[in-house]
Amino acid sequence: EAKGEPTSTYRFYSAELKLVSDRQAVLETEMRKGITDGEFEVYYQPIYSVSTGKLRSFEALLRWKHPQRGMISPVEFIPIAERSGMIIPIGYQVLRDACRAAVSWPDHIGVAVNLSAVQFKDCALVEGIEETLRESGLSPDRLDLEVTESLLLEPSPRVVSAIERLRELGVRLTMDDFGTGFSSLNNLRRFRFDRLKIDRSFTRDLDKSDSAEIIKSMISLSKALQMQATLEGVENETQLAFARNEGATEVQGFYYAKPMTVVDVGILLRDHLGTTKQGGIAA
Ligand code: C2E
Ligand code: MG
Ligand code: MG
Ligand code: MG
Repeated sequence: EAKGEPTSTYRFYSAELKLVSDRQAVLETEMRKGITDGEFEVYYQPIYSVSTGKLRSFEALLRWKHPQRGMISPVEFIPIAERSGMIIPIGYQVLRDACRAAVSWPDHIGVAVNLSAVQFKDCALVEGIEETLRESGLSPDRLDLEVTESLLLEPSPRVVSAIERLRELGVRLTMDDFGTGFSSLNNLRRFRFDRLKIDRSFTRDLDKSDSAEIIKSMISLSKALQMQATLEGVENETQLAFARNEGATEVQGFYYAKPMTVVDVGILLRDHLGTTKQGGIAA
């Protein structure tokens, strides 16, 4: 083939890439409208204690119900929201909804909220979290903030001070998707994280490769650092039995439940607990 001539493969890929970037640009614009129009909704996925089998908390997971395009996955829209900075207002919305929902649940049930590293660029993040807790009336120890390893790789002074202030506030801190990024074990200890969440890619590959050994060593690491360990993506009995045998403290996955609406959380709480908080659980 002639040098300098784009090959058909090249043309194919560039056309494909253009479609992807066009969609991203359109979604970015539609996101602004979607926020004001209330197209974003927080779903909740239950997390269970391995030793007691009891419900411990829910993870807040954002959904975008686009009026024309249907359900758009956070795997697609979160990166767009991060690039455009929209993750900051969206993040506050998730936090507010999650705290308001959790305050109507029984006191021993917590709520976990994912925080993007981009949200730490917001100087007012800690005050915003504090304000949301105050406004909702949720006790800080019921809020668990999930961050990813990239945040701690080379933390800026702003990130360091934000984490220290969050610690003082009394919220819980979880290292999410553990094992998929570049972990700094030293920072894990330095910031006294409460929990490691083992990424579901390891759970999925439990019967293959070295995943089982990797999960075991992550669980022993969590014990050595006096942290809890949650196994994510538990879809069957085998994976649950593994979590139990290896001493994971919590499990989360489709074996128990998929993320659900706040109304379905109310129903699950009634069924699971058989009791309601004074006055009943708001649905
Ligand atoms: P994540 O925080 O690691 O959340 C866990 C993801 O695994 C969720 O996907 C959940 O639905 C999925 N999952 C849980 N159990 C199973 C299982 O047994 N099998 C399978 N196949 N999947 C399972 P989801 O809701 O699509 O969210 C994907 C990612 O998007 C999240 O990963 C998180 O990184 C991000 N995300 C979602 N909501 C938010 C948000 O409000 N803020 C931020 N910053 N990120 C969010
Ligand atoms: Mg998470
Ligand atoms: Mg995760
Ligand atoms: Mg994950």
